Amino acid sequence: MVVARKSLVGIRVFRHHVLDIGEEVCPFICVKVGNAQTTNFWFDNWVFDQPLSNSCSYMDIKNMGSSILAKVADFYRNGAWEWPSELLRKFPVLQEVRIQLSDARDLVEWKSISGKKRLFSVHRVWEDLRPRTSTVLWWPLVWFSKSIPKHSLTLWLAIRDRLLTQEQLKDWKIQQLDVCSFCSVCRDSRDHLFFSCEFYHRILAAFQAKGYCTGYQGSWVDFTQDATVQLRGKSLHISINQLVSAAIIFYIWQSISLTPLPLNINIKR
Ligand SMILES: [Zn+2]
Repeated sequence: MVVARKSLVGIRVFRHHVLDIGEEVCPFICVKVGNAQTTNFWFDNWVFDQPLSNSCSYMDIKNMGSSILAKVADFYRNGAWEWPSELLRKFPVLQEVRIQLSDARDLVEWKSISGKKRLFSVHRVWEDLRPRTSTVLWWPLVWFSKSIPKHSLTLWLAIRDRLLTQEQLKDWKIQQLDVCSFCSVCRDSRDHLFFSCEFYHRILAAFQAKGYCTGYQGSWVDFTQDATVQLRGKSLHISINQLVSAAIIFYIWQSISLTPLPLNINIKR
């Protein structure tokens, strides 16, 4: 989303209230001055590396005969800058301003971590601020163009071991039925449900008989590693493999999570 602003009010709200990290972000938000009609002289970062208000108080602004609502255009007349003497005494650097105003509107820009100024957009801010880790090799298994979002989300949670299985709920001190609803052999866990449970193997066998998911068994490490190798490319067979892999995980998990809770559920304190 690109912010083509009518005034700087929105961006001030964004940086002070929405992000709540104003101190960190403000130096990277600046204004490309056009007609300067909407650029606040004191509080917008329009010519130096920071707003002028960082170097003076509200009382200073008043004593210089200005207003906190002053626009940059207020100091530009007949194609030249006109700086009040009180202002120049406080900020002599203003004499070096060479910007020429035009008829274009003012634009908000984002100074990226590389130092380049580009039109402000939430996408660019996110790309600069988001934490980065190394790319996981199994991403084609989860995120692909034909993926079904709810299937991909469940598969992603399973790979990250974040599904609320009985093993996970045990840590929450929630006592439930202690056996897998499918096979009644042991407590369900991610590894049991998808690689040990007889129910899983019966479903998998049905697809493997048709030539899909042939290498998917053993453990989650094997599963993700095999999938990484098998899912390279964009053929129809690979697309079906991707869809089937995620669908198996989704429907097994949906079946187990829709199983009614036992009546003896008890939250330990
Ligand atoms: Zn089981």
